[in-house]
Amino acid sequence: MKYCNTLRVYHRCGSCGKKRQFANTGRFRVNANGKKVDVWLIYQCVKCKHTWNLAIYERTKPGKISMEEYRMFLENDEELACRYGNDKA
Ligand SMILES: [Zn+2]
Repeated sequence: MKYCNTLRVYHRCGSCGKKRQFANTGRFRVNANGKKVDVWLIYQCVKCKHTWNLAIYERTKPGKISMEEYRMFLENDEELACRYGNDKA
């Protein structure tokens, strides 16, 4: 798996029990239940590979996400993952 060159993200790792650098895996996790959609970008602790999901959309109405973008989430579009990884917001 190749990591894209994104901003470093520091997050307390639940496995290491310490603040660690997390790398963008370039993969999304999409959870659609009923009328709400959750989308996460998956990060991984560089030390122990523990994963952490960064929420991009939480309990969002499907209509608020463009079909194009939604398709890219499902296909784990690398470019999109990098774009989100570089988005400080
Ligand atoms: Zn860790």
